[in-house]
Amino acid sequence: MCHILVIGAGITGITSAYELIKMGYQVTVIDQHLYPAMETSFANGGQLSACNAEVWNQKATVLKGLKWMSQKTAPLLLNPAFDLHKYAWLVEFLGNIKHYEANTRDTVKMALLARKRLFAIAEQEQLEFNLEKRGILHFYHSKQDYEVAMRVNDLLCTGGLERHAVTVDEIKTIEPSLTGQYYAGFYCPSDATGDIHKFSVGLAKACKKYGVRYLFGMQVSDIQPHAQGVKVVYHASPENMQQDVNSLQDLQVDAVLVCGGVGSYHLAQRLGDRVNVYPVKGYSITVNLHDAQSQQNAPWVSLLDESAKIVTSRLGQDRLRVAGTAEFNGYNRDIRADRIQPLIDWVNRNFQLCTESVIPWAGLRPMMPNMMPVVARGKRERIFYNTGHGHLGWTLSAATAVMISQQIGRQHPI
Ligand SMILES: Cc1cc2nc3c(=O)[nH]c(=O)nc-3n(C[C@H](O)[C@H](O)[C@H](O)COP(=O)(O)OP(=O)(O)OC[C@H]3O[C@@H](n4cnc5c(N)ncnc54)[C@H](O)[C@@H]3O)c2cc1C
Repeated sequence: MCHILVIGAGITGITSAYELIKMGYQVTVIDQHLYPAMETSFANGGQLSACNAEVWNQKATVLKGLKWMSQKTAPLLLNPAFDLHKYAWLVEFLGNIKHYEANTRDTVKMALLARKRLFAIAEQEQLEFNLEKRGILHFYHSKQDYEVAMRVNDLLCTGGLERHAVTVDEIKTIEPSLTGQYYAGFYCPSDATGDIHKFSVGLAKACKKYGVRYLFGMQVSDIQPHAQGVKVVYHASPENMQQDVNSLQDLQVDAVLVCGGVGSYHLAQRLGDRVNVYPVKGYSITVNLHDAQSQQNAPWVSLLDESAKIVTSRLGQDRLRVAGTAEFNGYNRDIRADRIQPLIDWVNRNFQLCTESVIPWAGLRPMMPNMMPVVARGKRERIFYNTGHGHLGWTLSAATAVMISQQIGRQHPI
């Protein structure tokens, strides 16, 4: 039987492992962490958001970004220190402005397919992950921002999305807990939210039941494709206290699927492939809703404040996830207090709920300069990629997992 090694146990790796084991492959998943979904798939914004499928390669977004660079609490932060990878990425990002419309439309289509597949998997495997099918509400604070958004909405709708304009009164009817001042908005009733970490852990368990084998706490250090297969060399990661980090082990497989998040860049480099994923850092807070009043006053409908670039997801009765910020600062994973505070302030400004207990988190979005995931074979015939999902990995992964598994199926039949 054909044996596939999946590198990475985040949302892209676990959904891929699921599709592959269901097709009849022998599947092993390797990850440097001791458990699934411990990196970017740990505490993201929670939105399954076809409505957020717009790619960022647009002149207006670039101009806004430049304006934000001078503001300390702005949603975008660029460390100007020279770094070749970062600046090469930014140049490539600008070069993709010409593909803005086509890539946005393709992302919508992929997101709609993904949503359908993710709901089906969740139902089939009986996964509990605080799924809320209450739609996503975008709101704007100025006429100018709203008028730009109307053009974006037309584009999203050409991709097949059901999303309509709403007035201030309708905003407050859809989500009565909102207490701020707004100009107008858009509502996408078919979008949803859920806890990516709970989903990934639940699906990883289901995969194990179907026969997927895991190598947790193991870091891949080399991948050597050869005529009959691929030799993968790995060692215990520093957090693996049970094994010697200096002793190398290896595994022979028929093909490798790289789902390494921000680690995919270096893994691809070793294989002679260019997968130009850059780590775009974001932050989230999880507000613990301990008291009855906070539980009542926290939103259930998922929100996207387009001026602040902040999203929310209600994760069950007693948690509210709030996320935002795009920071270009390399692989730095520090949780900065001055980036967390604007998220807390935003909650205090928009809702009457207690922010005494808040869990901060930071993660690195694996982002391609054209904002499109890499779902393809590499230069070598036994190497595949499903990575680079940027700000939409939770939204898109169920579709890209099917796409890459089908490609593997065509090239390496079971
Ligand atoms: C603040 C924030 C908010 C977000 N909000 C949303 C949202 O609302 N909706 C949405 O759709 N998306 C959102 N995203 C994006 C989404 O979370 C990511 O796109 C997604 O989690 C990426 O999944 P992944 O599997 O590619 O990467 P990861 O989850 O990072 O998994 C990659 C795995 O590969 C492993 N790995 C890498 N290299 C090696 C190696 N050499 N050896 C062994 N293991 C290795 C890592 O340990 C890691 O576990 C958000 C992201 C952030 C940061």
